[in-house]
Amino acid sequence: MTDPMMPEAPSGPDHMTPDEFRAAGHATVDWIADFLAGVADRPIMPDLAPGDVRASLPPSPPSVGESFDALLDDVDSLIAPAVTQWQHPGFFGYFPANSSPPSVLGELVSAGLGVQGMLWSTSPACTELETHVLDWLAEACGLPDRFRSDGPGGGVIQDSASSASLCAVLAARDRSGGSEALPDLRVYTSGQAHSSIEKDVLVAGFGRHQLRVVPVDGDYAMDADALARMVDADLADGLVPCLVVATVGTTSSGAVDPVARIAEVASAVGAWVHVDSAWAGSATVCPEHSDLLDGLDRVDSYAFNPHKWLLTNFDCSAFYVADAAPLAASLSIVPDYLRNAASDSGEVVDYRDWQVPLGRRFRALKLWFVMRSYGTDGLRAHIRAHVAAAATLADRVRANPRLEMAAPLSLGLVCLRHVDGDEASERLLADVNSTGEAFLTHTKLDDRFVLRVAVGGTWTTATHVDRLADLFDDLA
Ligand code: PLP
Repeated sequence: MTDPMMPEAPSGPDHMTPDEFRAAGHATVDWIADFLAGVADRPIMPDLAPGDVRASLPPSPPSVGESFDALLDDVDSLIAPAVTQWQHPGFFGYFPANSSPPSVLGELVSAGLGVQGMLWSTSPACTELETHVLDWLAEACGLPDRFRSDGPGGGVIQDSASSASLCAVLAARDRSGGSEALPDLRVYTSGQAHSSIEKDVLVAGFGRHQLRVVPVDGDYAMDADALARMVDADLADGLVPCLVVATVGTTSSGAVDPVARIAEVASAVGAWVHVDSAWAGSATVCPEHSDLLDGLDRVDSYAFNPHKWLLTNFDCSAFYVADAAPLAASLSIVPDYLRNAASDSGEVVDYRDWQVPLGRRFRALKLWFVMRSYGTDGLRAHIRAHVAAAATLADRVRANPRLEMAAPLSLGLVCLRHVDGDEASERLLADVNSTGEAFLTHTKLDDRFVLRVAVGGTWTTATHVDRLADLFDDLA
């Protein structure tokens, strides 16, 4: 009998029943399949003004739950037309952000399992699959043994290359004496390094003046002799070189720093070497690109992003360390509420000690789905098709008297400009983008405006790249 004086216990919200979830899930996957089948027919850049998307949404949330059909309808009519179509085969901007059907489904399973993998004990499979699949990836890419999990080092998945580099900066800082030594520590990277390196150095508590910008050679790669001179000068001033960040595949032009020589200079003074290969690293699944790994057997850490060019959805940045101890020394803090027998036994990896945040998603699933679905042969075919298409495009640029290459061809990245100068180059970029068929972004090299064509989209084929070359011929 209910007591009229006592309010009824709250019953919680109405969840989808398993059958309702199944139907909504099928409808969602159908929607994604249709979206991908039609993405090439959408304009790459939405024609929207700031605020247009918000103006299409109700100002307040619904108080009563809506039907799932209504939600999916709004995704179709309001959201999908208002995203930049990164999965369009004519998207050549920035660097690619690969997505693929197996990866999408891996994400779905990860969300469905709903685990939080901060510790081994909070989900053993989340940790062990990650360790295992990163060993697979190391094998597929031919990485040196020092990055395998059977030694003191191993791999971990970070959300981004920026975060991976930050971990390297923190570990290097602390290995060189930490906060007490901080004012005397110096970090070195080239003027072509990604902006995330400067940001990471600042986040780690260094002042801007503690980041030494090393000059580059004529091909935009770090000048290792200049590095050696800067290191010597700092040593002579009583300063402590603590970290060199080399880039394999720079953002602006795909230049490759001479890692072996850099490692030689750094190891002579005990400085940490981190290699940022965020984009180019995916190409190492192909043995013909193993030169990108030169010198890696002498560095402390290495990162690349399968979420750029290896068919795996953002976020999936593979971060490898030769020795995890300095990382844990910087990042491990153990409050009582996280203590557990498995961690205390020392027999498990707790990946929270290998990253800045505590919580972590089950990201290894999508990489596992991708590697099993495509196999290493499929991954190689993906890279090879793009590298070959980019080489053809570069030939067409060289054959066009109104265009010139602005940097050496690097894997799938073609950098070009109009021979008539910056204004003509800017106009060409705007004209190509306004066709809606292709989308490019730009950079500056030696202070000159450069169009970048990053060939690497999941659905981009030689035909799409040829079409871009035709557009250059028509519009240049
Ligand atoms: N490093 C390089 C060389 C890059 O090209 C990029 C992005 O393009 C990054 C780092 C940053 O990557 P993320 O977005 O994963 O932080």
